[in-house]
Amino acid sequence: MATVSSVRTETPTVRSFRLRLPMWMPHLPGQHYDVRLTAPDGYQAQRSYSVASSPLDEGEIELTIDRLVDGEVSPYFHDVVGVGDEVEVRGPFASYFVWRGEAPVLLVGGGSGVVPLMSILRHRRRTMPELPMRLVYSVRSADDVIYADELGEETALTYTRESPDGWSGHTGRIDASMLNGFGDGGGLTFVCGTNGFVESASALLLEAGYSAERIRTERFGPSGP
Ligand SMILES: Cc1cc2nc3c(=O)[nH]c(=O)nc-3n(C[C@H](O)[C@H](O)[C@H](O)COP(=O)(O)OP(=O)(O)OC[C@H]3O[C@@H](n4cnc5c(N)ncnc54)[C@H](O)[C@@H]3O)c2cc1C
Repeated sequence: MATVSSVRTETPTVRSFRLRLPMWMPHLPGQHYDVRLTAPDGYQAQRSYSVASSPLDEGEIELTIDRLVDGEVSPYFHDVVGVGDEVEVRGPFASYFVWRGEAPVLLVGGGSGVVPLMSILRHRRRTMPELPMRLVYSVRSADDVIYADELGEETALTYTRESPDGWSGHTGRIDASMLNGFGDGGGLTFVCGTNGFVESASALLLEAGYSAERIRTERFGPSGP
């Protein structure tokens, strides 16, 4: 049982929850936890959430959750869970979508798909800041940028629906021009988002010359009943 130690509003639909874990173990950036909710009548719902924090944050993890209007678990977090509450979690899980210090690294995220990529970025900043890393991040509008105050010059944003006034950067979907010219000498790419986002970004990466074994993907699609 984890205890919520803080809640931060990231965007109108996204919040970050810091959880204190009595049996904490360091995760690898990219890994996720499973969260299980149990209703008074015994009904249970379980969903996966990526860790957003660096494993250097001993004893706690941060989960960043996008509220889906017709969802079961994500609205519960937004509408019910607060500081001091307990939630049941298991993890960390995944051995494939993890960063173990390889370089260079190209991170490609759509919407809340940026969450595990932020764990990688945060960990790199605290351990190997000189290591080449780029984040290409697709959002609908300025309101939807998660971790807005933490994105630095390693980040290239694109707005797919509405860009802020005066924006001279990229607009529309991620295209080859945003992915080319980085990591040609090796390294890894991590792609995370919805199924459609992962499909199209992976296809672009393959076209740009990245070999399949250098592309790691994580899909935040519907997780079933
Ligand atoms: C490995 C992994 C890591 C994940 N990490 C995160 C994370 O860090 N942050 C986060 O917000 N989510 C993450 N997800 C998605 C998360 O597990 C849930 O699927 C999501 O929160 C929806 O759950 P829900 O109970 O609110 O909605 P549900 O009751 O499961 O679904 C409600 C409706 O939304 C649709 N739907 C479900 N999931 C999605 C989705 N992701 N996008 C669009 N439509 C969807 C369903 O088909 C359904 O129509 C992750 C998923 C996986 C597999």
